Amino acid sequence: MNIHIMTLFPEMVMGGLNTSIIGRAMDKGILSIEAVNIRDYAYNKHQSVDDYPYGGGAGMLMQAEPVYQCYRAIMEKIEAGREAVAESGERKKNLCKNPPRVLYMSPQGKVFHQQMAEELAEEEELIFLCGHYEGIDERVLEEIVTDYVSVGDYVLTGGELPSMVMVDAISRMVPGVLHNDVSAEFESFQDHLLEYPQYSRPEIWHEKRVPEILLSGHHANIEKWRREQSVIRTAKNRPDLLERAELTEKEKSLLQTLSKCDTI
Ligand code: SAM
Repeated sequence: MNIHIMTLFPEMVMGGLNTSIIGRAMDKGILSIEAVNIRDYAYNKHQSVDDYPYGGGAGMLMQAEPVYQCYRAIMEKIEAGREAVAESGERKKNLCKNPPRVLYMSPQGKVFHQQMAEELAEEEELIFLCGHYEGIDERVLEEIVTDYVSVGDYVLTGGELPSMVMVDAISRMVPGVLHNDVSAEFESFQDHLLEYPQYSRPEIWHEKRVPEILLSGHHANIEKWRREQSVIRTAKNRPDLLERAELTEKEKSLLQTLSKCDTI
């Protein structure tokens, strides 16, 4: 997968992503992530990319043209990459028929979630657009953006952190980025449940024992315990998720009992 991030702060984005699991996936060539500096496409000698908003109001707005030229440069690079693939004998993909999705980081967008990460991980190319100041001139957004995505109902100073959050969540869904055995394991949000509690050595820490069942070596019982813990934890922390989870009759009655005892 190739990820292109349009930003005024490429060092911030690459500094955050070029480490640990994502950094290793980049080294192995499973992922390619580049941050492209929108300022390189400024068309005045001071390299400024922002201006006052028409109609007045606080703050500055990123101008349309540098963003558009930055986008054009990325599209040309993607096209060149696809031409090279075509020449090497693989099926040529037409950029016009199959344009990459352009995700604008915006508090006004749909709130990002795990299923969205899984769906986006299937794309061959993704372009992220990070706004700054008061945002970006609407006209270029209308022209290039396919998805408006928010990381939550709060306002940040820029789209860099949201893009890093999204790239991290999407990348770990790309085959080969995590070890296969790790990626196959249950994680929060799978089946609309949160993950069960986990423990590592030592067996006793601060007088707290690891639950006996986890030391039993009885895999079926461990799985049963973990599922039950997931259901209970989700009911406690994120009851909204349970509306979409498929629970057995036994699990439903367990939750009813716990709720009567005020345990959840
Ligand atoms: N004036 C804009 C508004 O009220 O919708 C907010 C602009 S914000 C200060 C600057 C930039 O930060 C935005 O263009 C966007 O790229 C990014 N941003 C801020 N909060 C965000 C969020 N919750 N999710 C995604 N991006 C966000």
